[in-house]
Amino acid sequence: MEKVAIDELDNWMGPADVKRPVGQALGTEHMGVRFYELEPGESTAFGYHAHGDQEEVFYVLDGTLAFETEDGDVEVADGEAVRFAPGEFQRSRNDSDGRVRVLGIGAPADAGELTLLRDCEACGERTDQEIEPTDDGAALVTVCVECGAETGRFT
Ligand SMILES: [Zn+2]
Repeated sequence: MEKVAIDELDNWMGPADVKRPVGQALGTEHMGVRFYELEPGESTAFGYHAHGDQEEVFYVLDGTLAFETEDGDVEVADGEAVRFAPGEFQRSRNDSDGRVRVLGIGAPADAGELTLLRDCEACGERTDQEIEPTDDGAALVTVCVECGAETGRFT
């Protein structure tokens, strides 16, 4: 048996105001579990993305979270859950003016290859991206694979 208090866990750098590694703290072996809190405009993800081998479920605890999906835009309200298959593209966004709290569960824990797409101004289109830490480790940046431009910076 393992038990944790989510408020006491580390807060990971990234696109969400709060991202806590619940599964890592509990020692989950076959799934990833993460707790998020999103300010207006924030996302659980670095961009429109798919995990090669991992299915994901998001359970919205408070607020309403919008998702861009392959089936169009979907709103997921508190008390609702959404599932994405391995290889299926999605990106959440808090389009509300309130805070959103959401639990994300992905299995297996090893998500496989990440395909990440973001709008690149230099290329004028949505392109493949990589996520890299800055030299001082104070931020994560998304970089266009086509042209090398930085398309986002997350602390
Ligand atoms: Zn580019």
